[in-house]
Amino acid sequence: MSQIAFLGVGAMGLGMATNLAKSGQRVIVYDVSAAAVARAAEAGCEPAGTAAEAVAAADVVITMLPAGSHVRQVYAETIVPHAAKGALVVDCSTIDVATAREVAAMAAAAGLRPADAPVSGGVMAAEAGTLAFMVGCDEALFETVRQRLSPMARVAIHAGGAGAGQAAKICNNMVLGISMLGVCEAFALAEKLELAPERFFEVASQSSGQCWSLTSYCPWPGPVAAAPSNRGYEGGFLTQLMLKDLKLAQEAAAVAGAATPLGAQAEALYALFDRLGHGRKDFSAVLQMLRGRLDELS
Ligand code: NAD
Repeated sequence: MSQIAFLGVGAMGLGMATNLAKSGQRVIVYDVSAAAVARAAEAGCEPAGTAAEAVAAADVVITMLPAGSHVRQVYAETIVPHAAKGALVVDCSTIDVATAREVAAMAAAAGLRPADAPVSGGVMAAEAGTLAFMVGCDEALFETVRQRLSPMARVAIHAGGAGAGQAAKICNNMVLGISMLGVCEAFALAEKLELAPERFFEVASQSSGQCWSLTSYCPWPGPVAAAPSNRGYEGGFLTQLMLKDLKLAQEAAAVAGAATPLGAQAEALYALFDRLGHGRKDFSAVLQMLRGRLDELS
């Protein structure tokens, strides 16, 4: 029987590991937080005493960790020394491209089969098993990775070789950060020009200003019922996480020599919004900063 080691069962990892267990597979979990392990055990996973113990008996090892430094440490100290030869090792954390390539090379040199597979979709998608995975791995390995991710996935797309999943994720989220700011600025200007926001939505959603940030995730409360703007900007994609992804994009652009001036400006605006104390609001709440109406955020 297939055995999965899952390292990092926080906000995202808990739902992901639970869906793997629900699919009938044995899922051994480890987290530095004992409370996180206890929650996963309650949800049907098996707790491991140590990370090495979880990894040693597994044919698939999945990591869902906060940042690149954690991933590098777990690969160097646990996965590479303890995983069985031939094990599939999939990092689903959002990290920098350089670290993703470094740990993939380290794992491949140790006879493991590495993939980076960051996700789009938040905690609700992790719980529902409807995440979108962007996968960086050898072409020949992709179908195996796709099958192993399927209990957690709505879709898995092969982005290219090692690190390509991370590259796809930060490029996509840079578009999202910039487009959301564009939509917010337009609402703020419409308001100053005494153009009713609802009328502006009606026009732009049927004109060339149409985009996902406007018509699926409208920052102005009202026009899109399911958007976080209608619930006090709670429970969506945290500003802090958008800021993390924009920073990763800027770091990657600096290393690669790519010109991303709007990405840089987006990072600066979200950093300001975070410093003003709104890092745990949905990223579309930046509208209220651009309107000069931070008083509308509780
Ligand atoms: P989280 O902080 O809730 O969970 C991370 C978990 O890793 C924690 O439980 C922590 O204790 C554990 N951990 C830290 N170091 C560890 C180690 N050495 N060994 C084992 N466990 C360790 O974070 P999250 O929201 O679940 O995010 C995880 C990753 O997913 C991040 O890279 C994040 O950018 C990405 N992501 C998050 C979301 C979201 O909406 N939360 C969406 C997409 C992607």
